[in-house]
Amino acid sequence: MSSDLYSTPEHEAFRDTVRRFTEDELRPRARDFDAAGRIDKSLFKKMGDLGMLGLRYDPAYGGAGLDWSFSAVMHEELGRSDNAGATLAISVHTEMATPSLAQFGSQELKRDFLAPAITGETVSAIAVTEPDAGSDVSAIQTRAVRDGEDWIINGSKIYITNAANADWLCLLAVTDPEAGYSGFSQIIVPTDLAGLRYDLLDKIGLWGSDTGQFFFEDLRVPVAHTIGEIGRGFQQQMMQFQHERLVACISQLGASELLWEETKKWTQERVLFGKPLSKMQNTQFKMAHLWTQITAARALNDACVRSLVAGEEATTMITMAKLFSCNAALEVATECLQLHGGYGLMKESMAGRAFVDTRVGTIGGGSDETMLHYLAKQLGF
Ligand SMILES: Cc1cc2nc3c(=O)[nH]c(=O)nc-3n(C[C@H](O)[C@H](O)[C@H](O)COP(=O)(O)OP(=O)(O)OC[C@H]3O[C@@H](n4cnc5c(N)ncnc54)[C@H](O)[C@@H]3O)c2cc1C
Repeated sequence: MSSDLYSTPEHEAFRDTVRRFTEDELRPRARDFDAAGRIDKSLFKKMGDLGMLGLRYDPAYGGAGLDWSFSAVMHEELGRSDNAGATLAISVHTEMATPSLAQFGSQELKRDFLAPAITGETVSAIAVTEPDAGSDVSAIQTRAVRDGEDWIINGSKIYITNAANADWLCLLAVTDPEAGYSGFSQIIVPTDLAGLRYDLLDKIGLWGSDTGQFFFEDLRVPVAHTIGEIGRGFQQQMMQFQHERLVACISQLGASELLWEETKKWTQERVLFGKPLSKMQNTQFKMAHLWTQITAARALNDACVRSLVAGEEATTMITMAKLFSCNAALEVATECLQLHGGYGLMKESMAGRAFVDTRVGTIGGGSDETMLHYLAKQLGF
C-alpha cells in the first residue's frame, strides 16, 4: 500500500498489528475454518482486544474514533488471510451489520449492542436478502407488526453470513406496507429469542464463512430495538451498503495481490518445454495485465477512501469501484488458475479456492447489474 493516505506511523503500526494477526491466527488455520464451515468465534474477542472491531466508532462505546483509511488498511491485510470466507465473516461484523447502529442507534442500543460488538464479545450479522427479494430490496416481505412496546416479526432471510456465529441480526423489515420507501425499519434481533431458527446453506466456495437462512415465527422484540427512526430503515440500509461495497473491494484487493504474488512464484518454479513458465511471453503479458487491473482497482478504492475521509459523498465512486474491483478480482482469479494448470483445479490450491471465492463479488452486496442500474441513472439515462 504505497498511497499517502496510509503512510503515517499510526497506519504503519496498525498495519503491522493486523498483518501479524492475519499471519498468526488466520493463515495457518485457513483450512481448519473451511472444514468447520466457519471461523472460531473466539477470534472476534482476539480482534476486539487488538482494537480491530470498532475503528471508526465512538470512543464512548469502545471505538477508536478513526477514519476509513484505517479500515482500508485492516481489510486489505485481512484479505491476505488465504480464506475469503473468514475475511467475509469479519467484514460483515465490522462494516455491514454495525455501521447503522453506530450512526443512528440510541444510546441504550449502542451500550447494549455496539459496545460488546466492539470488544468482540458478540458477533453480528446483516439480514436483508430474502428468498424472493435480493437486488430489489424494496420487495422484501419480512413483516414487523407493532403490539404495544414490541414488534412481532414473521418472515425469512436467506444467504445470511455469520448465521451460526451471530448473537444478533441487523434486520431490515417492513413496518408499514402502505408507506413505500418510508415503510421499512432496521431492528436489532438477538438470535437467542423464541421464534427464531436457522438452517445452514452449502456453498460452492467461501467455505470459511457460515451462510444460512433464518426463519421468524411470531418473534417478539422490543420496539426500542429499532435503529434510528421507525420508517427510515430503507434509507439507513442504503447508507450501510456503501460500507459493505467498499470493504468488498478492499478485501478482494488484498486477496488478489496475494494470489498474484503466489502465482508469480509458481510460474518461476514450474518448468515446461525446458524453461520456467515465467519465461514465456504469454505468462509475462498476463501477469503484467493482471497487475494493471490490481493497480487500477487500488486507485478507485483509494479515491473512495479519500472521499470518505474528507467527509464527502462517495456513493457514485463506491459504485464504480465495486463494479470494477470485483470484476478485476474475478479476472485475476481466473487467469491465475489458468497459469496453475491442473493444480489450479485442486481444492488445496490458492488459485482454485480464489476462483470459487471471488465469484460472489459480482453478485453479493449489490450485483454488477445493480451497480450499472444506479450508474446509468446518475449518467442521465
Ligand atoms: C455467499 C453470500 C453471502 C451473502 N451474505 C449476505 C448477508 O450477510 N446478508 C444479506 O442480507 N444478504 C447476503 N447475501 C445476498 C446477496 O446480497 C444477494 O444474493 C444479492 O443481493 C443478489 O440478490 P439475489 O441473490 O436475490 O439475486 P436476484 O436479485 O434475484 O438477481 C438475479 C439476477 O438479476 C440481475 N439483476 C439485478 N438487478 C437487475 C437489473 N436492474 N437489470 C437486470 N438484471 C438485474 C442480478 O444481477 C442477477 O444476475 C449473500 C449472498 C451470498 C452468495
